[in-house]
Amino acid sequence: MSEQNFVQREFDLVVIGAGPGGYVAAIRAAQLGLKTACVEKRKTLGGTCLNVGCIPSKALLEVSHKFHDAGHQFEKLGIGISSPKIDVTKLLANKNEIVSGLTGGIAGLFKKNKITSIEGAAKFLDKNTIEVTRADDQGKIVKEQISAKNFIIATGSEVTNLPGVEIDEKVIVSSTGALDLEKVPGKMIVIGAGVIGLELGSVWSRFGAEVEVIEYLDKITPAMDAEVSRNFQRILEKQGFKFRLSTKVVSVKKDKSGAIVEIESVADGKKETLSADVVLVAIGRRPNTENLGLENVGIKTNARGFIENNHLRTSIENIFAIGDVTTGPMLAHKAEDEGVAAAEIIAGQKGHVNYDVIPNVIYTYPEIASVGKTEEELKAANVAYKVGKFSMMANSRARATGDDQGFVKILADAKTDRILGAHIIGREAGNTIHEVVVAMEFGGSAEDLARTCHAHPTYNEAVKEAAMAVEKRQIHS
Ligand SMILES: Cc1cc2nc3c(=O)[nH]c(=O)nc-3n(C[C@H](O)[C@H](O)[C@H](O)COP(=O)(O)OP(=O)(O)OC[C@H]3O[C@@H](n4cnc5c(N)ncnc54)[C@H](O)[C@@H]3O)c2cc1C
Repeated sequence: MSEQNFVQREFDLVVIGAGPGGYVAAIRAAQLGLKTACVEKRKTLGGTCLNVGCIPSKALLEVSHKFHDAGHQFEKLGIGISSPKIDVTKLLANKNEIVSGLTGGIAGLFKKNKITSIEGAAKFLDKNTIEVTRADDQGKIVKEQISAKNFIIATGSEVTNLPGVEIDEKVIVSSTGALDLEKVPGKMIVIGAGVIGLELGSVWSRFGAEVEVIEYLDKITPAMDAEVSRNFQRILEKQGFKFRLSTKVVSVKKDKSGAIVEIESVADGKKETLSADVVLVAIGRRPNTENLGLENVGIKTNARGFIENNHLRTSIENIFAIGDVTTGPMLAHKAEDEGVAAAEIIAGQKGHVNYDVIPNVIYTYPEIASVGKTEEELKAANVAYKVGKFSMMANSRARATGDDQGFVKILADAKTDRILGAHIIGREAGNTIHEVVVAMEFGGSAEDLARTCHAHPTYNEAVKEAAMAVEKRQIHS
């Protein structure tokens, strides 16, 4: 096939990138009657999230949790089981099957919604034309030009590397390699105490790896409410995690048996050398804007490389930017909501995202979930607030299931009682948080939650009690 074989195609909307931002935007646009195409350079749809992010990590977290329970909890509960073994080949095969089921599902959704799916890397030629490049079945490079009235850039993000460190995805790995390790490492060093490092550290720790986390800052998950962060660290330490905070990684080098990590204390510059079988570099992600031809349309990126937007519109009227490639939290559901809003704006509707109410979940055990403001943010903004807290130790469901670590904390405006934030440590906190998310979306107060009947026994009763505790009238503590 050559360039001349293609009739130039024209669309109302072309979405670049088929991650949770892009594929959701394409589906919403098609629902609204726009002639829509989605260009994706990967062989499979679903972006980082489905291929090498949210879904494979949760598949591994689930199995590792079961494995850990079988080895550590079952005997106490009277379930006889000899020490469990993990077959990593089967573990990865199960994860890969889940991923391909879901990515294939997106292809089905595209078909159902009559979205044209185009494989290849897109690059802007001008504000109404992109060039898409791909290799054909014989490996020959094929280029095609596609025109559209509107574009949504949903090119997502990729792993940030440490300068001078060579990631081989076997010994020195990014999150992508950590999802595919061929055996359980004896020792794993995780660089970066953020969500991804702690989730993937949990996976391999539960399978028996000794996990040591190096973090430059003086606390783990730094954006989190400080009380939650402190408690979370203690919980992980009890599970066997070792933390070195206020510590800088100077170099990471492969050696015969694994890797050597040179570290330096931020406080006094004292240097030390650590060795590990596997080193996971999890220091963050950077937006995918290279080779996108942004210079051809005059879109600039900010100092950190993100495309800025005004109500999802870039500086060019007909080009929108959503998801990880633009500013805001790098989360799949934020990307999805922006995708829906951008499609609706393009279709002439009033699409909108409420950035004050985006939940954030860490899928460790127990889970950590938050929405809205932290105490530190409220103090910095001089907002007078009340705190209602309830321990999972006093929640009957948590006691019944033996998951009584953690608490629910509700922050409410001191004058109006409006809910400003919620922070939960607990089993299924990622599900439990959603009643607070809905209440906040409706401008609800702590009293609204406190007076809502909750089924018994549920983890959510701890939310009701924390809401009652805002007025110091909780029942069970
Ligand atoms: C290990 C890990 C675990 C995670 N867990 C969670 C979680 O539990 N919950 C959560 O909310 N978030 C999680 N995330 C983050 C989440 O994956 C991202 O926030 C989300 O995928 C962003 O969606 P997106 O559509 O903006 O971009 P992406 O999912 O990155 O998709 C962008 C797509 O664009 C394609 N693309 C890039 N450039 C071009 C081009 N020029 N032409 C054509 N295609 C292009 C890419 O190939 C990619 O498929 C996790 C991330 C990782 C790495």
